[in-house]
Amino acid sequence: MTTEKTCKTCNDSQCAAQEKRPGEREEDYLERQVLLSRMCRIKHKIMVLSGKGGVGKSTVAVNLATALALAGKRVGILDVDIHGPSVPKLLHLDGRQISAHGDAMLPVNVSCGAGTLSVMSIGFLLRERDDAVIWRGPRKFGVIKQFLKDVEWGELDYLVVDSPPGTGDEPLAVAQLIEKADGAVVVTTPQEVAVQDVRRCIVFCRQLELPVLGVVENMSGFTCPKCGELVRIFGADGGRAMAEEMGVPYLGSIPIEPEIVVSGDSGTPMVQAKPHSETAKAFGRIVRTLLEPEFRAASAAAASPARDGQRLRIAVPVTRGLLSSHFGHCEQFVLFDVETDGKTIRNRQVLTPPPHEPGTFPKWLHEQGATIIIAGGMGSRAQSLFDQNAIRVVVGASSNEPDVLVRDFLEGRLTTGANICDH
Ligand code: ADP
Repeated sequence: MTTEKTCKTCNDSQCAAQEKRPGEREEDYLERQVLLSRMCRIKHKIMVLSGKGGVGKSTVAVNLATALALAGKRVGILDVDIHGPSVPKLLHLDGRQISAHGDAMLPVNVSCGAGTLSVMSIGFLLRERDDAVIWRGPRKFGVIKQFLKDVEWGELDYLVVDSPPGTGDEPLAVAQLIEKADGAVVVTTPQEVAVQDVRRCIVFCRQLELPVLGVVENMSGFTCPKCGELVRIFGADGGRAMAEEMGVPYLGSIPIEPEIVVSGDSGTPMVQAKPHSETAKAFGRIVRTLLEPEFRAASAAAASPARDGQRLRIAVPVTRGLLSSHFGHCEQFVLFDVETDGKTIRNRQVLTPPPHEPGTFPKWLHEQGATIIIAGGMGSRAQSLFDQNAIRVVVGASSNEPDVLVRDFLEGRLTTGANICDH
């Protein structure tokens, strides 16, 4: 008899925090449990990446996090940029001491409009700014792991992670440890779009199956302080063209803004210090796009294999003819075969699955040839099992008829909300 185990944090029996992987050492398993049960209390995790340093990645991360908090969200910002942790400076928190709660570190809370902003930076732990320079790969991985695992965030709507630049060991560690981030915002500059770094960054995300939420072009043009005209010093729309060419969304551009440097030095992000400035408005537009549920669905659709002209078989778990709020409790699966054009449904089949046990459905659906599952709620453990069975997961779909959901998904207008399970 299998004992139904439930994650103590999110009450989800599918949660990744509970199952031991084959061959996993006991201490690694326990560490992973702590990390994942912290992560499962955070609704959305967004990594901010860049191909190289100095393009304004931390500036964008801090302004995005602050703008989300000003919009009333509970937000955390985690700075794991080992070699250049600049978040404390950008939020006027340099030299802050971290307090502890049991084995965990408590983030520093900053007042931020209607929402909350909790800050944790690897910079708080480095005695000297050069401390980390001598760290080698495994040490860096260990530090990043500890940092993700040992911070007591509580319940958050968003966690924005300012990752080290490039596609090396550190961003890889972050992406692997978080396991199920919503995706990455890739920051670039007009000078950088033409070079390989940012493209490599997008390819890196694809290899990790980390959705690219979009590209932000920073330092894009300069608004003349005298006449107000926007001068595109490095040409126009390079970021947009590059995003289109790479098949990822373009989130928008931020101009070169001398005030950004001033606000960075004073520790109040532009979106808070100068909310009516063109720059703050540009950040606002990017945040609105990120908050739009349709956008999240569209980016999931954009990441679907249909783009490559591959065969699609979409599975939808249903109960009494409507999407099940949790796939594990469904009565049947409706499977849709889609033409290689990614638009036309050619066949529809209703199948009754075997009795539900953890891991059964991903394997069984793989055997049925499914390549995508559209789900309501799903724990991260189940999502990783689907991943392992080469089935892409779209979560947060609303209770609706499967045909409507699949049609909307193929048209790129499926609305997805929070990943809510009925457990
Ligand atoms: P990264 O995290 O990519 O290394 P930072 O966010 O630390 O980059 O920014 C590098 C420098 O560029 C900082 O001095 C910052 O104030 C400045 N900066 C960032 N964005 C802009 C912008 N849009 N206009 C002017 N200066 C900027």
